[in-house]
Amino acid sequence: MNLAPAPARPCVGLAETVIDLSAVRDNVKTLAKRIRPGTEVMAIVKADAFNHGAVQVATAAIEAGATWLGVARADEALQLRAAGITEPIMIWLYDASELLLLTDIDVSVSTVAELQQIASAPNVHNVHLKLDTGMHRGGSAPDQWIELTRTAAHYESLGALKVRGIWSHLSHGDELDGSHSKKQHQLLRTGVALARRAGLDPEYVHLANSSGALTLDAPDCNMVRIGAGVFGIDEVDAGLRQPMQFVTKVIQVRRIKAGEGVSYGHDFIAERDTTVALVPVGYADGIPRNTGGRASVLVRGVLMPIIGRVTMDQFVIDAGDLAVEPGTPVIVFGNGDSGEPTADDWARWAGTIPHEIYCGLGNRVPRRYVEGAQR
Ligand SMILES: *Cc1c(COP(=O)(O)O)cnc(C)c1O
Repeated sequence: MNLAPAPARPCVGLAETVIDLSAVRDNVKTLAKRIRPGTEVMAIVKADAFNHGAVQVATAAIEAGATWLGVARADEALQLRAAGITEPIMIWLYDASELLLLTDIDVSVSTVAELQQIASAPNVHNVHLKLDTGMHRGGSAPDQWIELTRTAAHYESLGALKVRGIWSHLSHGDELDGSHSKKQHQLLRTGVALARRAGLDPEYVHLANSSGALTLDAPDCNMVRIGAGVFGIDEVDAGLRQPMQFVTKVIQVRRIKAGEGVSYGHDFIAERDTTVALVPVGYADGIPRNTGGRASVLVRGVLMPIIGRVTMDQFVIDAGDLAVEPGTPVIVFGNGDSGEPTADDWARWAGTIPHEIYCGLGNRVPRRYVEGAQR
């Protein structure tokens, strides 16, 4: 079998992720085109933008039209501010001790106790009241919503805080018929009506995540919060592209004989004489340990299986009788265009979702940013 030529630009160092920011912009634009005109996009760049780099991804998303950013925690928001990003940012998980630092960051609020902490903080915070419409993972219980909105209106009238948004989160955004989402949307509408009756006038109402933005039509919502879709995780076939390619290289090659084993415990025993090649990434870099014996990587156009156990820093592949040598490029995953596995393939091999494959990447794998095909 012939091997494909090596890519024009082999990886720098032992391993790197190469992130195509034009794919990030395209994904944001693709999703924005599919939602109602006038709906704002909050790009969710939590967990360092699913390990794609929060500042770079946030900047690209803003260039593509996102007007808001969302992250889970205070330090993530402050990192964006420190990089000079001025767009509004919402966070939804924080400790009261952090409120002093959050002078210019909108915070989510689910309980009267949180409202009281915020109202007694020295600075005036913008808040987004969160109603639990069925996800049951945070948010105000429906039977406490009236008290929450009345208390918020009271504090707002005192100038102690500003209610800028009302929001909720979908539990089944990727369900194509949208039946769960419709119920949640109906509950949110009722919640907004009650909030108005309490005297609030929120500038934003937001519910949908990436998949929900495509499966739920909610004319009264004026913002969507898109995370997965920015990274090309395409739960409802919207034609998104995965911006990240994870590349490394062979660093050693040797022949083993039939009957010889590979890696800890010899889970793999060669059935014939073969060439094995050492690849210098392991579970500390985000290669799930349970994919030994299941996963493959792309080496000069050929899918080569991982044999034996994945270890902390390295794994071994079976090159058969093909000519690989130290320095031969290895694609761990990418967008699949060259026949390489995708993060979805890795998720299947590891029994998880691509989100966790991205979030599991080790921080010792450096990132390189490119535009379009220039990798
Ligand atoms: C992660 C997250 C999102 C984005 O969801 P995706 O499915 O990744 O688009 C939106 N809102 C909240 C509160 C989240 O935690």
